Formats: sequence, C-alpha cells, structure tokens
Amino acid sequence: MLDRVSNTPVLPPEIARRRTFAIISHPDAGKTTLTEKFLLFGGAIQMAGQVRAKGEARRTRSDFMQMEKDRGISVSASAMSFDYGKNRFNLVDTPGHSDFSEDTYRTLTAVDAAVMVIDGAKGVESQTQKLFEVCRMRDLPILTFCNKMDRESRDVFEIIDEIQENLAIDVTPASWPIGIGRDFIGCYDLLQDRLEIMDRADRNKVAESVKINGLDDPKLADHVPAELLEKLREEIELVRELMPAMDQQALLDGTLTPIWFGSAINSFGVKELMDGISNFGPEPQVQSAEPRKVSPDEKTVAGFVFKVQANMDPKHRDRVAFVRLASGHFKRGMKLTHVRTKKVMTIANPVLFLASDRELAEEAWAGDIIGIPNHGQLRIGDTLTEGEAIRVTGIPSFAPELLQVVRAGDPMKSKHLEKALMQFAEEGAAKVFKPSIGSGFIVGVVGALQFEVLASRIELEYGLPVRFEPSQFTSARWVHGPKAAVETFANANKAHIAHDHDGDIVYLTRLQWDIDRIERDHTDLTLSATKEMM
Ligand code: GDP
Repeated sequence: MLDRVSNTPVLPPEIARRRTFAIISHPDAGKTTLTEKFLLFGGAIQMAGQVRAKGEARRTRSDFMQMEKDRGISVSASAMSFDYGKNRFNLVDTPGHSDFSEDTYRTLTAVDAAVMVIDGAKGVESQTQKLFEVCRMRDLPILTFCNKMDRESRDVFEIIDEIQENLAIDVTPASWPIGIGRDFIGCYDLLQDRLEIMDRADRNKVAESVKINGLDDPKLADHVPAELLEKLREEIELVRELMPAMDQQALLDGTLTPIWFGSAINSFGVKELMDGISNFGPEPQVQSAEPRKVSPDEKTVAGFVFKVQANMDPKHRDRVAFVRLASGHFKRGMKLTHVRTKKVMTIANPVLFLASDRELAEEAWAGDIIGIPNHGQLRIGDTLTEGEAIRVTGIPSFAPELLQVVRAGDPMKSKHLEKALMQFAEEGAAKVFKPSIGSGFIVGVVGALQFEVLASRIELEYGLPVRFEPSQFTSARWVHGPKAAVETFANANKAHIAHDHDGDIVYLTRLQWDIDRIERDHTDLTLSATKEMM
C-alpha cells in the first residue's frame, strides 16, 4: 500500500516506529557525550559516563588500544538499541578517528539518517565535511546538533551560513540560543514555541521548559533578562523572515537540515533533538539492490552485512557480522539463504545490541541491526534472504592509499601471520596482498593509524609480534578483463603482481605512469582502484 501524498509505502507500526541512525562529527565535537545522553534518556544506562568508562572509540591511540582490549564490551557500542517514547532507536556507532573512515562510510550504508554534531566554537570542520559528503551521496537526511553552546561560541548566523555554504544544504533553526558563553541561558524552541532553560547545576537533568504564548508573552521576561530578550525577538524575526521553515519532506530528501543548539554535557537540547528524530523520521527506507530494490514492508526477510568484527572473544575466534535488516520480521531460528554461496544458514544465536549488554534477539524488524556470530562465512556486502537471489548494492570499498610490507617477528610463524592477515582482510580492516615473487605480505590501508592498530591486534589476538616496513610500491590496482588476458598480463609482469585474499589479481606499482601505460597498451584490461565488496 502506498501513502497517497508521499507515494511511499505505509509501513506496519513495528517498522514505522524504528529510527536507525548514526552520529557523525569531527573528533572532539561531542559525539561520545551526546551518545551517552541519548542512552541516558532512552533508559539504556542509568548514569552518563558509562559509555566513556567502557572505552568507546576514542580520539587517542592509547584509548583505542584499550578499546581493543575491551572488545567484548566496546562492540556492544557498535550498534545500540533502546526505546525512546513510542520509538525504537537504533544508534549505530561510527569510529571517530579519521583513519577509520572506511569503516565509517560502510556504517553509513546501514542507517536511514545521520545526526551531525558540530562544535559551536569551531563550526564545520574537515572531518564533518568529509562525512557529510558521504551522507550526501546517499541523500541521507541529516539533523544537526550545534554543541558546546555553554562555552564561547561563534555567531549563530555565521555558523548557519557556514553550513549552508560549505555543505550546500538549506538550514532551518529548530531552536535558537539565548545568550552566548557564560551568558547562555537556554533556547527558544521554534518548533513548539517554548522556552527551554538550561540547568548548569545538574548536568544530567532535563532542561526546564516553559510553555509560553509566542514571543510577546509577558512570561518571557520572568526567565530572560531584558537585553537578551530584546536581542532574541530581533533575531527570531530575522530567522522567520530569512530562513526556510521546517519542512519534513525536504529533510527526508536530504536538502534541508534542522539545527538544534545545545550542550550535550549539560543534557541541554538533547531531548529536543531526540524528539526531532522521533517526529520527523525517517522510517526505515527502501534499500538499493540487484536485480530489484528491497522495501521494508515486504513480508520476507532480507538483510545485509555492513561490518564484520572478528575475535571479539580471543578464546573462541568467533566473528560477529553486523546485519542491517532491510525488510520483514525476523525471528530467532530462522533459516536464511546466504546469497553469495547459495547456502542456507540457520540463524540460531542472533544478537541484539542493547546498550548495556548483548542479548539474544528473539525477533527483529526491518530497520534493526542484529549481530550474527559465525566462523567467517559472512563477509561485508553479503546479503541474506529467505531464498530470493538479491544482492544489496552500494557498499563501498576503498582504494588503499598506503602500502607496507608486514613480517612476522619470528620467520617460522609466517603461516600464522598469513592466517591472521586473511581474517583481517575479510573483516575489512585492511587489504592484504601476497606478491607473486618473494616472501612477506603487503598490507594496504586508508589511514596510517590502521597499521598500528593491526600490529597491536595481531599481537593481542594471535600472540604474534609483527613489524611493518616500507614497501617499494605505493599503488594497488585490481586487474579486470577476460580471464585469459588477465593471466597473460600477470605472467608477463610477475614482479608487479600480487593476489588479494580472494585470489584476485592485483597490479602493484609506484608510478602512475605505469598504470596509464597499461591502460593504453591493453585495451581489454581495466585497472581499478577499488573492488566492489562481494
Ligand atoms: P567526541 O570526540 O566527538 O566523541 O567528543 P567527546 O564527547 O569526547 O567530547 C569532547 C570534549 O568536549 C570532552 O572533554 C567533553 O567533556 C567536552 N564536551 C562535550 N560536550 C560538551 C558541552 O556541551 N560543553 C562543553 N563545554 N564541553 C563539552
């Protein structure tokens, strides 16, 4: 059934109430703090500070290593489900550090919306811009939270201008701050014509809201000092004149972002933002796939793997595949077809990630994220269905930008190293190439910090000290073309050829000139910087 106005499916209530989203930000803008407050108001934790204490993906390397040690726990922070009012929120965590952006980009394929956090003193920062562009590619609706308004911040009009200019999206203020820095007292809620007063004394308390009757209500003067009130009235008048009003369809189309001003650490503005997610959505969306799209209201279950985490418990070498359900009503024990291998899997122990713990998922609906423990069958990009051969599309794979040779500290252990590397390659943590000539492996990553994290994980999870060394190559290209032509090419260029973890042929070089020449001389071959996740 289609809604007559929007022409979108009318979803069953259990699906329609789901809100699956990620928070994106530049490091330090307040993503962790905001996440904590979401969980607090969602009743998922009792006290703010728990997320931090558990070592969520942190800014610094040492913190990240600690998180690696705490894997079992940190993983529950990868996708957190909790109820807020009538809605079920699925908050999917994105790693904060820019070096993990590949993971972040894939995560964004599993959500229906993003909350963009910016620091009121800094505005749009480099990482915000990059992440925003990925959301844009997918037309993801974006809700903006301008944080740290309790401190000296930039001029509000300036911040809004900057978002409009740099990100090319219309902005509509959902709230408007009153006073700046130490004089900040709260916000005027433009959506509900309410005054929200911040309580600096109790950081976990929800702000007091004062129902008023528009900006001329004399009650305003009881709460807002005269000079701030005058300024507020002027500014709101300007806002209403110059800026677009809230428009749900424009938000859903990704052309308009509502912005809330607040202070995550003071729990201020957070509930209004959560209400915004509840009220404006979006609901679970249609998923692009081949040969046909998947709509959330379909009766049968379909889902896809957007993240794999290996060795969550080093004793068991298990892996958890994070699956976003694209359609249907999933029940524990269901048999699903793994489309890539055409094998049927019984999903006996699905995990639902409630903020405090992992729990067996008895059931889940389109929009939810479930974890499926497995021994390596499930890979990023895989689709699970009730039998139909559908393949979800649009999960990006990135060209490795940095290549290094990895060697086991103990040369006798190179077989072990191979096994460890293959696991990380399948998990999507790195690209691994085995050169045709010579020993050792070449590892390709997107950000330099990934090398250190890999070294630490290989040592921690496999008891294998390794070292990374510079490689003679700087670029890797997958060689595509007719099988015979690819093989002839590979045999003639052995010194430059390697195989990836799937056995596919990769050309390694340090000269762009080489790549151009090959493409000119071998018109039947293409050299591609990425490989679609299959
Ligand atoms: P993340 O790197 O984006 O996850 O940022 P965090 O949530 O860890 O916050 C970075 C720093 O900003 C921490 O020291 C927080 O305590 C602080 N912070 C977060 N929200 C606020 C806020 O509303 N006001 C102020 N003054 N500081 C904040």
